[in-house]
Amino acid sequence: MAKQAVRFSKKKRTQYRFQKLKMCKKCNRYSVLNDENCPKCASEFVGIESLVKSIFKNRLLTESIWILIIVCMGIVAAPTVETLYYSLIAGVIFVISYVLLTSIFMKSEYFIQLKKLLRVDFKKIQAGIQFDSDLAKEDVKQDQLAPAYEKLREIGDFMDNDQVKIRRVMVLNEIALRSDMELELEELIPSSYDKDFVKYALEVLKINRTLITKKCIAYFIHYRDAVVIDFGMDSLISVAGTALRMKLYILEFSGFIEEFLDYFPKERLLRLCNIVHANPDVEWGSLEEKTKRLVAMKYHYDPDFKRFVS
Ligand SMILES: [Zn+2]
Repeated sequence: MAKQAVRFSKKKRTQYRFQKLKMCKKCNRYSVLNDENCPKCASEFVGIESLVKSIFKNRLLTESIWILIIVCMGIVAAPTVETLYYSLIAGVIFVISYVLLTSIFMKSEYFIQLKKLLRVDFKKIQAGIQFDSDLAKEDVKQDQLAPAYEKLREIGDFMDNDQVKIRRVMVLNEIALRSDMELELEELIPSSYDKDFVKYALEVLKINRTLITKKCIAYFIHYRDAVVIDFGMDSLISVAGTALRMKLYILEFSGFIEEFLDYFPKERLLRLCNIVHANPDVEWGSLEEKTKRLVAMKYHYDPDFKRFVS
């Protein structure tokens, strides 16, 4: 089946994960999606931060009213004018110090309130994300892959688990990937071998090598047997070829690279020679020897390799 050509909207980034949470006060439902309005009742979502702030304000108001009531009771119960003044002064001092202390501890109070809300509403948040996830499922059923992926991306940003990762990867595998897309790879690495993930990673490798990071190469090495069974030896050779991207990677994966040295296309081997040649002080180990031997054997006539042949 032909892959779908889509365009993703730009990802919204937040400093903390919890900032993605919002709530529809009418449905009493949480969501982590990008929508401004609730898809069920169309009312505007309220961000978790405003939610915490309003809870905080209400608490402050209730406490202030209590202080005021106590001061008033003191005034009413005062037997003489003198004690009335005393209770009035005490009341004013108390209110001022209360306001002062609250403003000093505002930030920590805010986080205490936030933690409390997240704890109390944990089940509700879970149910909300389940609802978001069902919406994504519905999009997939309708073949609306871009909105489905964007929903799963928001959910995945909020919670880090294999199930969401694999669902994202499965949608991505139905899409024609392009280098101008804001793709992710390292964030999608699952905790065990997954064929869909490897399929996606190999597709990414073709369009944007810079996304194949250390963690990703390590994943391929760890599950190399399964990768070879499902995708053939060429896939491992390509991954080893991407490890030549950086000096640090070459050092880290020198054994892995050495294994596939004979199979690299000329351009990759040339890159390796250039890096090794430019860094004579680095301890390259047996990789350097084997590379030299290979060049002498296979490319000794090639002018591109001339400066590496001694
Ligand atoms: Zn609603």
